Formats: sequence, C-alpha cells, structure tokens
Amino acid sequence: APLRIDVITIFPEYLAPLRAALLGKAVDRGLVEIGVHDLRSWTHDVHRTVDDSPYGGGPGMVMKPDVWGEALDAVCPAPDPEDAGGRAPVLVVPTPAGRRFDQALARELAEEPRLVFACGRYEGIDQRVVDEAEGRMRVLEVSIGDYVLVGGEVATLVMVEAVARLIPGVLGNPVSASEDSFSDGLLEGPCYTRPEVWRGRAVPDVLRSGNHAAVDRWRRDRALERTLRRRPDLLDALPPEELSRADRAF
Ligand code: SAM
Repeated sequence: APLRIDVITIFPEYLAPLRAALLGKAVDRGLVEIGVHDLRSWTHDVHRTVDDSPYGGGPGMVMKPDVWGEALDAVCPAPDPEDAGGRAPVLVVPTPAGRRFDQALARELAEEPRLVFACGRYEGIDQRVVDEAEGRMRVLEVSIGDYVLVGGEVATLVMVEAVARLIPGVLGNPVSASEDSFSDGLLEGPCYTRPEVWRGRAVPDVLRSGNHAAVDRWRRDRALERTLRRRPDLLDALPPEELSRADRAF
C-alpha cells in the first residue's frame, strides 16, 4: 500500500511543492498519497478564526484547541477495531522544542503506513491538542534544527521529502539512498562528472582507473576524512564494529 501523508495547515498553497518533481512523480505512480487540508475548514465563525491570545499574557497568538481537535478527528479517525493490524497514524507536530529530525527518524517514518503533519503558526498550537492526541495515536513533536521558522509548513516539506525518497521505487536508482550521507554513519565524499579537466582542475585519477576496489577504498577514505574534519561527532557516535581495519589505517 502507498504511504499516506496528510498535512493540516492554514496555508495549503505553501505545500504545492509536494506535487512537483520527484514527489509529484511518486504521487502519480501511486507510491505516495498526499492530502493537504485547510485548517480553516473546521472553523464555525464568519472570520474563520484559528487563533486567540495566550493565557498568562505575552506577545503573539496561540492556535485554538477546538479547531485543531475537530481537524484531527476528521483527518485521523481511530483505527478500525475490526482490523487488528490497523495501525493508528503517526501525528508529527513540527516545533523548535521537539526531538531533532535526522536520517534515522526519516527511516523510521518511511516504515509507517500513515503520517499526519500538523503545521503550527504564530506561537504554536495549544498544548492540550498534543496531550489529547497522545491518548489515541503516536505523536512526535519534531524540530528540523535549532532555529525558528514562522510556521510548520517548510519543516513539513523538509521531513516529507526526506521520508518519501526512502520509499522503495521513489528514487530512480535504489542504490543512491543507501550510499548517501548518514546511511553508513558518515558524510559522503566529493563527486565528479565530465569533463575530465575543468578550469585546470583534473578529476582524481583513481576514479578513472576502472579499478572498482580502489574506487571504493578511495570513496570510503574521503568519507572518513570529510566526516573527521566537518562532523567529528558523527565518528564518535559510530559503533566500533562499523570501522574496518582498513578504515582504521586511514
Ligand atoms: N513559540 C515557539 C517556540 O518558541 O518554540 C515558536 C513558534 S514558531 C514562530 C511557529 C511554528 O513554526 C511552530 O509552531 C512550528 O510549527 C514551526 N517551527 C518553527 N521553527 C521550527 C523548527 N525549527 N522545526 C520545526 N518546526 C518549526
């Protein structure tokens, strides 16, 4: 079955890139299903109000729990009790206060049948929405990095793109994802294409040698070198058995 992704937002047009390029193709080919929902369709007043001032005072506005509650009831109904294997969707709530998004979490989410993204705006969503949802589905509050965006839409685009490319069949070449940065715990090294010499800079000889073992060794060494220089924390986190004798020699 295709991965089903629903996004709830007050700016549905912000999610248009989900229909473009690789993701659009994955949707056309039935590998991923995407639904984008306007939060305001669950309001009942003429102004279609989704926010109110914060209890306790302070600047900004907070998204109302009643509107979000109705939206989540409609978009993620309880799993069918007849269907024993039916898994509740995972509700992903983007927030700078969440668990940091990374490739490992992308891989976990790519195994799920259904993801629902709740895009906050203003100061965020009334906390009771998350607390109440936790009683009936798996909820993940997730941050895409230590900075503050104006809304959850761009964070959702980031996460959906990282997850969707891991779905079998989405990438043209399935080997690509397994060789990318982070898949083996390291950053990927540099890559080159024609021409052989460009502005006086030649492609490394080994890459044109036709010696596949030598190419693999060279790539692994460059990955180790780059990771050591730019992200020593990744090397520290690598289980020792992930490093071969030849890796250590490097
Ligand atoms: N008051 C919140 C705080 O200090 O944690 C910031 C709210 S932010 C202005 C509005 C919305 O943008 C958030 O509800 C969240 O959906 C989204 N957002 C902002 N930064 C984010 C990040 N680093 N990762 C994920 N979502 C983020």
